[in-house]
Amino acid sequence: MLLRILFFLGCLLSFALCSEDFYKLLGLKKDASEREIKKAYRSLSKKFHPDKNPGNDEAHHKFVAVAEAYEVLIDEEMRRIYDQYGHEGIEQHKRGGGRQQQHHDPFDLFSRFFGGSGHFGGHQGERHGPNMEVRVSLPLRDFYNGRTTEFTVEKQAICSACEGSGSADGHVDHCDMCGGRGMVIKRQQLAPGLFQQVQTNCDKCGGRGKVIKNPCPVCQGSRVVREPETHELHVEKGMPDGVRITYQNEADESPDWVAGDLIVHLVESEPVLGEQEHERTDGTFFRRRGNDLFWREVLSLREAWMGDWTRNLTHLDGHIVQLSRKRGEVIQPGTVEVVKGEGMPVWHQQLPDGVDEEWGNLNVEYVVVLPDQMEKGMEKEFWAVWEKWRKKKAVNLDEDRGRPKAKGHDEL
Ligand SMILES: [Zn+2]
Ligand SMILES: [Zn+2]
Repeated sequence: MLLRILFFLGCLLSFALCSEDFYKLLGLKKDASEREIKKAYRSLSKKFHPDKNPGNDEAHHKFVAVAEAYEVLIDEEMRRIYDQYGHEGIEQHKRGGGRQQQHHDPFDLFSRFFGGSGHFGGHQGERHGPNMEVRVSLPLRDFYNGRTTEFTVEKQAICSACEGSGSADGHVDHCDMCGGRGMVIKRQQLAPGLFQQVQTNCDKCGGRGKVIKNPCPVCQGSRVVREPETHELHVEKGMPDGVRITYQNEADESPDWVAGDLIVHLVESEPVLGEQEHERTDGTFFRRRGNDLFWREVLSLREAWMGDWTRNLTHLDGHIVQLSRKRGEVIQPGTVEVVKGEGMPVWHQQLPDGVDEEWGNLNVEYVVVLPDQMEKGMEKEFWAVWEKWRKKKAVNLDEDRGRPKAKGHDEL
């Protein structure tokens, strides 16, 4: 028995600890406006919805708690009681037969905000709104390093002022013209004595079958508003250019349907040399093909021919990839050097089983630039060197290629 009492007390205690401050829960200040409360509910209830967090009890609890907090704070009387007496006051108020709360089911509340049955998909026969596509472009650097950022889309949302009823006072009446059917039968005279009956949309209610005497001042009775919504975007290391990321049920909302999906089309933007240090790397101008990166490195004639040079390439995360040749190492123009493992990280979804990480290659193409001008003295010296050595060790390029002998084509 004692054990049971202790257990019961423990439950009570944990319940008390769990009842987080309503304002804190919704991320609001004490003087939050009605609009702010609604906005907080909208974003948090979507975030914690059980359909989006399958098997996550904590999210489920939060979903219920957010609905509870909303219903208290949105009701003037309840909010006053809560501000004064806290959770205990609310409990007492409920027990004392105060005004009955209208909404106990958090899914009910959810559906008033987002249409449908309060669930995301999975319910047969429920109408789905159209999907929405947006393009978000980000620099290659973000595909290499991964990044969490935000983007904003403008979309149609259920008017939170009237909760999608379109009415300022919550009253929606059946249209008396069409009897709520939205359609009326009209008689049209085609010729004297010849009539035709046609069914048309009711003029009075616009075919909706309902009329609102006091339209909501925010949406003018249309039940929806256009507003910007900001989403978090997780760019994962190595995500392919053009990848599609789906945000379930985040497309246009309407009281008549369950919102479709918002699909983000993530593409690589044109490289621009940025202002900040980390935006000013050589990597900014790497080109990507799949998991490989490409870069063109320019060498002078001396470097290509004589060797003895070093280049420090700053990669997309700022680390250095060193390219170099010792004296005497020749590089032919157009040579491609493959630097293993310095390409893009392979996206986790494309990694072979049992492999944690893997990188593509960096392909460096060497371009050799010849001097188009030389100082006179220098030119003379070079010329003398050529003359001396071509007499001793001439190579005939034509002969090497199997072409007939011709004069004047010998070269060192
Ligand atoms: Zn409205
Ligand atoms: Zn009507």
